[in-house]
Amino acid sequence: MLELPLAYWIAVAGVLGLLVGSFLNVVILRLPERMAAAWRQEARDVLELEADTTPLPPGIVREPSHCPQCKHPLAARDNIPLFGWLLLRGRCRYCREKISIQYPLVELLSGVLSAVIVWKFGPSWAAAAGLALTWTLIALSGIDLRTQLLPDQLTLPLLWLGLLLSLLPMFVSAPSAIIGAAIGYLSLWSVYWLFKLLTGKEGMGYGDFKLLAALGAWMGPVSLLPMILLSSLIGALVGGSLIVLRRHQRELPMPFGPFIAAAGWVWFVAGDGLLRGYLQLSGLR
Ligand SMILES: [Zn+2]
Repeated sequence: MLELPLAYWIAVAGVLGLLVGSFLNVVILRLPERMAAAWRQEARDVLELEADTTPLPPGIVREPSHCPQCKHPLAARDNIPLFGWLLLRGRCRYCREKISIQYPLVELLSGVLSAVIVWKFGPSWAAAAGLALTWTLIALSGIDLRTQLLPDQLTLPLLWLGLLLSLLPMFVSAPSAIIGAAIGYLSLWSVYWLFKLLTGKEGMGYGDFKLLAALGAWMGPVSLLPMILLSSLIGALVGGSLIVLRRHQRELPMPFGPFIAAAGWVWFVAGDGLLRGYLQLSGLR
C-alpha cells in the first residue's frame, strides 16, 4: 500500500480533507451553541433557579444537516463537500436563501491543507498526527472568528496530544514539548496582564494562551517566538487591510486565535525551511 506514488496519497488526503471539512463546519456552528446552553444550565444551577426546559441545541454527530433558514433537511447530493455548494450556486434548493460562503471555504481549506500535510510528511503516522492538528486548528479558527471563543474542548485535547506524541518522540522530545507548553502559555499570559495593567483593556483571552501552549507542546519552545512574530505579522496585515477597507472598526475586538493557528500551522509545515532561509539570509550560517 505504502508503495503507491505520493501523488495518490496527496489526492486521498485532499478528498478526506474535503469530507472532514464539512464535519468541521458542523463543529464550528454547533459546538459554541452547545457550550452556551451548558453554561446557561450551570448558571441556573449555581443561582438555584429552576432547570431550563428548552431543548438543547442540536448535537454535533447525530442530527442530520438542514438549511439554517427554512430548516428543510438537505439531500445527500447537496451535502457533497464544495461541489454541493457550487452546484446550488450558493443558494438553498428549497427556499433560495443564500448559503454562507463559510461552508465551501472551510471545506476547501481543509482539503488543501490536508493535501499539503501528506505532501510534506508522506503516508505516515506523522501525517496522521499532522491532519489531527490541522483539522483542530481549522475548527478553532472558525469558532474564534464567529464567537471570539477558543473552546477548552478543542485546545486542551490538542495540548495533551502534543505532550503524548513527544513520548515517542514524534516531532519534538518530551522535555521540549513540556517546556514549549509552559512557555507558550506563560508568554501570552504575561503579555495579557502587562497590557491589562497598562491600558485597562483585555487584548486577548485565556483561550489564546492555551492554544499557544498546545502549539508549544507540538513544536517545542524554539518555535514560539517565530510563531508569535508570524501571527502578529499576519494579524497586522489582515487587520490593517480590514481597517483600510473599512470592514472593521479599530475599537472592535479582533480574534487573535486564527492568526496564532495560521502561524502555528505554517511553522509546523515550513518552519525548518523558514529557519534555514532566515539563517542564510542573515549570514548566521
Ligand atoms: Zn432553505
